[in-house]
Amino acid sequence: MSDNDGKKTLGLRGGPRSGQVKQSFSHGRTKNVVVETKRKRVVVPKAGAQNKGGAAGGDPSRRPAGISDAEMERRLRALAAAKAREADEAAQREAEEKAREVERERRRAEIEAKDREDREREEALKAKAEADERAKREAEEAAKRERAERNKPAPAAPTPADAEAAEAAAAQARGKVVKGKTDRERDNDRRDTRAKDRTDNRRSGKLTLNQALSGGEGGRQRSMAAMKRKQERARQKAMGGVESREKVVRDVQLPETIVVQELANRMAERVADVVKALMQSGIMATQNQSIDADTAELIIEEFGHKVVRVSDADVEQVIDTVEDKAQDLKARPPVITIMGHVDHGKTSLLDAIRNAKVVAGEAGGITQHIGAYQVTTDSGAVLSFLDTPGHAAFTSMRARGAQVTDIVVLVVAADDAVMPQTIEAIHHAKAAGVPMIVAINKCDKPSANPDKVRTDLLQHEVIVEKMSGDVQDVEVSAITGKGLDELLEAIALQSEILELKANPDRAAQGAVIEAKLDVGRGPVATVLVQNGTLRRGDIFVVGEQWGKVRALIDDKGDRVEEAGPSVPVEVLGINGTPEAGDVLNVVETEAQAREIAEYREHAAKDKRAAAGAATTLDQLLAKAKADESVAELPILMKADVQGSAEAIVQAMEKIGNDEVRVRVLHYGVGAITESDIGLAEASNAPVIGFNVRANAPARAAANQKGVEIRYYSVIYDLVDDVKAAASGLLSNEIRENFIGYAQIKEVFKVSNVGKVAGCLVTEGVARRSAGVRLLRDNVVIHEGTLKTLKRFKDEVSEVQSGQECGMAFENHEDVRPGDVIEIFEREEVERSLN
Ligand code: GDP
Repeated sequence: MSDNDGKKTLGLRGGPRSGQVKQSFSHGRTKNVVVETKRKRVVVPKAGAQNKGGAAGGDPSRRPAGISDAEMERRLRALAAAKAREADEAAQREAEEKAREVERERRRAEIEAKDREDREREEALKAKAEADERAKREAEEAAKRERAERNKPAPAAPTPADAEAAEAAAAQARGKVVKGKTDRERDNDRRDTRAKDRTDNRRSGKLTLNQALSGGEGGRQRSMAAMKRKQERARQKAMGGVESREKVVRDVQLPETIVVQELANRMAERVADVVKALMQSGIMATQNQSIDADTAELIIEEFGHKVVRVSDADVEQVIDTVEDKAQDLKARPPVITIMGHVDHGKTSLLDAIRNAKVVAGEAGGITQHIGAYQVTTDSGAVLSFLDTPGHAAFTSMRARGAQVTDIVVLVVAADDAVMPQTIEAIHHAKAAGVPMIVAINKCDKPSANPDKVRTDLLQHEVIVEKMSGDVQDVEVSAITGKGLDELLEAIALQSEILELKANPDRAAQGAVIEAKLDVGRGPVATVLVQNGTLRRGDIFVVGEQWGKVRALIDDKGDRVEEAGPSVPVEVLGINGTPEAGDVLNVVETEAQAREIAEYREHAAKDKRAAAGAATTLDQLLAKAKADESVAELPILMKADVQGSAEAIVQAMEKIGNDEVRVRVLHYGVGAITESDIGLAEASNAPVIGFNVRANAPARAAANQKGVEIRYYSVIYDLVDDVKAAASGLLSNEIRENFIGYAQIKEVFKVSNVGKVAGCLVTEGVARRSAGVRLLRDNVVIHEGTLKTLKRFKDEVSEVQSGQECGMAFENHEDVRPGDVIEIFEREEVERSLN
């Protein structure tokens, strides 16, 4: 048995452990080709052979004699090649070999026992015959002697006869014995020879395997084929097992729609079978198509499984919603939103805080605006500010279920008063149940009257501390920086009162503050982590999108590995642009993330269709016809960032009265496309681009279809225009006419001039006096004027379409090959916008 164990190594290395060689060879009727061959590779294992000597002594001694070194080498090589093939079957063969070996052993023992018996019997016979002979001879001698002594002449006659008879008898007995011996010996010899021949043949067949002698090879192939058949049989058996297992009735979770492949998975059936079953019920569906629950139910029943209907929303259940234990909760920084009336200084205040605390010493303007930032107060408290002032962001976030803000800072200008948007902000904060801190801004101004603000606020049930209320109020100036620290400390104090906590040690959950489609980086979302810790590599679902965190970038523009509670980070690696207010959840697998995103997308589509903010022309038209009583100004709007888009939509929705209203048919992020134009044409709506442009096909389509495209880069201009248009009061205005487009081919650096773009004028004309905009992927990067327009070496005033020229911008260096330059002129036109 130990030999068998050794065989594996023998097969690989040879070696003197060839104990079984003689055993198997002595009777040589086995087919254990490999083992024996391997043993041969042991190369002159005389020692082994001698050691084991005995019964098959002849074989090993002949082996080395019959095999030359060269031959041995060849065999070794052949074996090495065969070894690879054999390796995987070796184990099995070994087992068989073992069994065979045991059987052989048994038979050998039997035969040996028989031989021994025979031999013993022969011996006995021989001994008996000899004894008989001896006795006879003695008897003869005695008789002779007797006769001779009694009567001398008489004994001659009977003597020869008697002697002859005795002789013959003895001879017969002897001969018989001799003959018997010879026969048996011959038999034995023959048997031995045959056995030897057989083993020799077999061996020679194997040994000469490489010499293309078919015997051994055939034997091996046969055994391999047998092996394969055996494996095949085993496989079939196993498959038969699967079939029988299929009869296990499974509970198949069935959502409202399911992809065929997933259905097959859940039933543990083959996809092909499911597709076939679908076809038989007259449904042509590929494995990647979704089928509805009713159809799926029929199929599941057909396969004999049990249907467990689950709501689609169940896919969201993988999102970790476990309540945090109190001991896991750790204090987190507060998240602050600044609200207030236009021009009361929200942006200035945010910038002042940021500049004072984050990038002290660094010139303004270079800071990274990701939609939120963190500051540390002098007392060490960390505060997270949302950098997107305005109520639209606040409400749209709230509408999406992302209550991000912990504290609202209400900015009221001390030189102004409580204004409509101030009141709105108060309402928002109250509705959200978020505590307020009043920042009375512009206190540096001589006309500032903070107490008026305080008393004004009383009318709106905001009682500040100075008026014996509980709302903290701080006098500040965004310009001089006065009171900023007090404001921050007031916020820190408020946050302490709130005892804000989160568990950093769980799957992250956060809210999208801002999202955009970035040139080069793809979709980017600023996420404020609300609970847990978001890490690089996390798989997440965010709104209708999903992804895997490719990179996290903090508010200082640095790449970070993780972001804990209340930390805002830019997240890269999303498959699409989410929307502000979307909630981000980390899930375990991509499949889960994808499933949830798909479900949400589907659900949102249905909702939109139902709500009438339809995406198809038919739905749009039907809807438009339905509300004819109110005059509507439909618009389509595309913006560079989701935040702007939402803010504009909210602003648009507020415009109008009982007779007229603005309806945003469709809005989104990115360039204006042909399909936008199609939609606009169908609804007779203008298209508004906020910091984005129509791509070339869209522009062509718009010209052809007479769809108006208007570009804006200031929200208030847009709002004012739309307002005016809606009320039919659109006054004369300055309007831009695009006179040409040029494509940047190359960028040169020219001393004294800076970067010069080598361009090809692709449309219209480039005019030096005209205004220019630099577009990158149809997003406005820069707007300004030209410093130079050159054709060859000469400064020219105009370059026609199809010609090349050199352009350099006034005060702008960031030009890249592939950028497009938009050339426009302003003219005064009468009202438009429908
Ligand atoms: P927002 O519309 O609320 O974001 O207001 P802005 O931050 O854009 O500010 C509107 C105007 O008020 C700008 O011209 C600012 O320079 C000015 N401003 C803001 N804060 C102060 C301040 O504390 N003192 C003075 N004197 N002017 C301020």
